[in-house]
Amino acid sequence: QQVSTGSLAHQKIDELLREAHERYSDVDDGLLAHYIPILGHADPDLFAIAMSHVGGSVHEVGDCQHEFSIQSIAKMFVYALVVQEHGREVVRERIGVNNTGMPFNSVMAVELNNGHPMNPMVNAGAIATTEMIPGRTSAKKWENVRAGLSAFAGRQLTLDDDVYASESESNERNKAVGRLLKSYRRIEGDPLAAVDVYTRQCSLNVTAYDLAVMGATLADGGVNPVTGQRVVDADVCRDTLAAVATSGLYEHSGDWLFEIGIPAKSGVSGGIVAIAPGKGAIGAFSPPLDIAGNSVKAQLAIGHLSRAMGLNLFASA
Ligand code: GLN
Repeated sequence: QQVSTGSLAHQKIDELLREAHERYSDVDDGLLAHYIPILGHADPDLFAIAMSHVGGSVHEVGDCQHEFSIQSIAKMFVYALVVQEHGREVVRERIGVNNTGMPFNSVMAVELNNGHPMNPMVNAGAIATTEMIPGRTSAKKWENVRAGLSAFAGRQLTLDDDVYASESESNERNKAVGRLLKSYRRIEGDPLAAVDVYTRQCSLNVTAYDLAVMGATLADGGVNPVTGQRVVDADVCRDTLAAVATSGLYEHSGDWLFEIGIPAKSGVSGGIVAIAPGKGAIGAFSPPLDIAGNSVKAQLAIGHLSRAMGLNLFASA
């Protein structure tokens, strides 16, 4: 009987995913991110939704095997790895957990806060967080980032060389942010080396399917539900998701939490992953973005599913 109840639930999830995909596939609001030249060439019609359950099943609809660069979504997983390594208080003191109220690449936010990056989900905080990844050289840090994110995904993730090249040629602002952090002594080593590892982590290729599994690892107390491998501790997941709730969608994080009620992290290539602790995660992908840099269709799809599945953390019934 358990088996049939389980498969019924699985059918229901498949149905809801199809419904969300169908409902929003014609939406054509939003713009591609052009400030990283290669992202401006993305196919705006790609649309994928995947859901990974903590029980290990993964459901998908649409272009779920299409690879795209993870961009800012990497920030959430790198943060988890750094908290695992250094402990919550050290990282909290150095990086913070409060929303800046400003765009993700704001230089002003750093200036206004005496060089403190405020949170790990904006570029300043992410560059400072990446610097805390273990490894005496940048090459070693990069290796650890890639291995860590691959463990979250349950497969070997690879660098998109074209995205890395395009972003490296156009990331003057991130270099400025890195140097500003250094001027305030918020970064210990070479700021441009930290920015380079950060740029590589943004250029890792993933699919919506990967995002769902990576998010479900955080929902599952740090154990990848597909591979069974422990990646980080349960306390680290709790702390990471709290930080993601305050700032995962940048200056729109409050609106998101108010409307949808689960922590989510977005990236400028059009991915969003939303995590329902103890239950699972939804990974969605569609390149056109709103003004804050969050995928329009991915937000709609996740919102629909969160309501249909009763995932809002603040709802008592
Ligand atoms: N690599 C991008 C940047 O640094 C990531 C930004 C994002 O996804 N919001 O600007």
